[in-house]
Amino acid sequence: MDLGIKGKRALVCASSKGLGFGCAEALAQAGVDVVICARTQAPLDAAKAKLESLGVSVTAVAADVTSDEGRAAVLAAAGDVDILVTNAGGPPPGNWADWEREDFMAAVDANMLTPIMLIKAVLPHMIDQKWGRIVNITSQYVKGPSGILGLSNTARAGLTGYVAGTSRDVAKFGVTINNLLPGIHGTDRAEALDNGLAAKEGLTFDEARAKRAGSIPAGRYGTQEEFGSTCAFMCSQHAGFMVGQNVLLDGGFIGCTI
Ligand code: NAP
Repeated sequence: MDLGIKGKRALVCASSKGLGFGCAEALAQAGVDVVICARTQAPLDAAKAKLESLGVSVTAVAADVTSDEGRAAVLAAAGDVDILVTNAGGPPPGNWADWEREDFMAAVDANMLTPIMLIKAVLPHMIDQKWGRIVNITSQYVKGPSGILGLSNTARAGLTGYVAGTSRDVAKFGVTINNLLPGIHGTDRAEALDNGLAAKEGLTFDEARAKRAGSIPAGRYGTQEEFGSTCAFMCSQHAGFMVGQNVLLDGGFIGCTI
C-alpha cells in the first residue's frame, strides 16, 4: 500500500533502537525524511547509516529529549515537521512503597510533559499547513495497569488525558493526534524487564522470557518492525479520520472489549 507520505518530514524521538527506530525505519521505507535522536552517539550513528541506506535524508541529534536543553536542540535541528512521533525511555519498575515524589516528578517529566511540550512546539506549523500526524508511543498498561509499572501508568495516564482533548481541538485543521500502545516487544527494554523477572523469581533469562511470552495470547513478543508499520500507517494519508485513539498492539495481552 502506498502510504501517500513520500517527501514528508518526520521527527521521531528516542529512535536509535527499539520501537522508536522501528517507527523511523517504517517511515523512511515510505519515503519520509527523518530526524532521529538518542543520548548515545554510537548507536545513533549506526541507526542514521541504516536509515540513509533507504534513500531518505536523515538528521541525527545526540540529545536527551526529556531535558529542556535536549528538547530545544532536537526541535531546532528538526525545524518544521509534518509528522511527530514522541518517545522516551520508560520509568523503572518497582512497587508503590518504593516511590517518592521525585520519582513521580521524573516520570511525569519524561513520559507526560516531554511529549506534551513536543506537541505544543510542532502544532502551529501543522495547523498552518492544514496537515499533520502525531503519534505518541505510550504503553499497553494505559488500558490495563500493572502495579509494578505504577510510575509509567501515572505519567502516561496524564498524557492520554491531554491527547483526548487536544486531538479533538486540532482535528479540524487536518492534524491527527493518536497514541500507540505497545505490549511486550523484543527490545532492550523488554530484555531489562526479563532480567528483572529472572532476578526476582530465581529464573534463567530464557525461562523468564518464556514465562512472559506465554502470558501473551499470541504466544510471542511483538517485533519493532510490526510496531513501526502500524505507526507509519497512523501517519499516512489513509489515517486522517483516526482522532484521539489509543491503538493497542499487544498480541491480545490486555483483556478488554474496547
Ligand atoms: P529501548 O529499546 O530501550 O529503546 C530506547 C531508545 O530510546 C534508544 O534509542 C535510546 O537511546 C532512546 N532513548 C531513551 N531515553 C531517551 C532520552 N531520554 N532521550 C533520547 N533518547 C532516548 O526502548 P523500547 O522498548 O523501544 O521502548 C520505547 C518506549 O515504549 C518506552 O517508553 C517503553 O517504556 C515503552 N514500552 C515498551 C514496551 C516493550 O516491550 N518494548 C512495552 C510497553 C511500553 P539512548 O539510550 O542512547 O538514549
